[in-house]
Amino acid sequence: MRVTEINRRLAECGAKTCHIRRISRAWLQGWPLDTGTRYQQAQNFLPLSVRTAIPQLSQELAKLAKLRAEHPGTDGSARLLVELHDGQIVESVLLPRDGLCVSSQVGCAVGCVFCMTGKSGLLRQLGSAEIVAQVALARRFRPVRKVVFMGMGEPAHNLDNLIEAMNLLGDIGGIGHKNLVFSTVGDRRVFERLPRERIKPALALSLHTTCADLRQQLLPNAPRIDPKELVELGEAYARQVGHPIQYQWTLLAGINDSQEEMDGILRLIKGKYAVMNLIPYNSLDIDDYQRPKGERIVEIVRYLHSRGVLTKVRNSAGQDIDGGCGQLRARGERPRQM
Ligand code: SF4
Repeated sequence: MRVTEINRRLAECGAKTCHIRRISRAWLQGWPLDTGTRYQQAQNFLPLSVRTAIPQLSQELAKLAKLRAEHPGTDGSARLLVELHDGQIVESVLLPRDGLCVSSQVGCAVGCVFCMTGKSGLLRQLGSAEIVAQVALARRFRPVRKVVFMGMGEPAHNLDNLIEAMNLLGDIGGIGHKNLVFSTVGDRRVFERLPRERIKPALALSLHTTCADLRQQLLPNAPRIDPKELVELGEAYARQVGHPIQYQWTLLAGINDSQEEMDGILRLIKGKYAVMNLIPYNSLDIDDYQRPKGERIVEIVRYLHSRGVLTKVRNSAGQDIDGGCGQLRARGERPRQM
């Protein structure tokens, strides 16, 4: 379901724009629309025809994203397995400091070799209402002030729904524009569309290597954009919207942690309006890929930082529960049932 569809149905019941905004705001705050909540008082302002339609709508909205299970981490994060109306499962992650990572697709077509989600291929797109429903669900547990689109899926492959969701969250959902973080492997449509949109999110670009051939191997179905051009496109967007680009680099031992790659990062990123986020791979015993040793990670950070590239190490939230993008769903672990 799309947000526009919900709005259309409400309008058909006689809701004016101000009524629709009031109902949407309540939904995005995670308030049940038809039971004894603060919202019930607000309903007195609605036309009777709209009030009559609310219980049915409320039931449908509740089915868009249901909590199937929760994996609490020791770092203040928690991974949520979220069931969609058709029984498909995606993941959302409650992040420390009021952040939330949401999914934009069931599965993903990019097929990154180090990602569980990529192994399943794309199963289906999430509608804009399913994307924002993850925020409404999370707000039942804790406040959400930042939303990152880094869960399952490639947001650039579901751009219309993402833009609709970001407009709603940035407009009446209480999320500041720079606290909406659109994450992509890099797609020309993103650089064409986002600058023209009213809500301009911060951008996270998954770079992973400065070598075009290796990038094609690691991200087999990503658009063919040379890393140098990708950084130029990112830089133009960052300067235009005033938010630095967050480059994402999953660190894989022996693959992209060499001195040559570090010098490549300096050549591409130094002097740019950017932050380099190094994410040591969350390896499992059965994996083909391993995370670099701790000393090597420290060495890399010092090297880049001391030469003028703002560099941070980001451990994937919930690392202690083996949570990587899509890993819980793919591995069928037995989480705490809700
Ligand atoms: Fe898709 Fe992201 Fe996984 Fe790559 S890392 S396959 S883009 S979900």
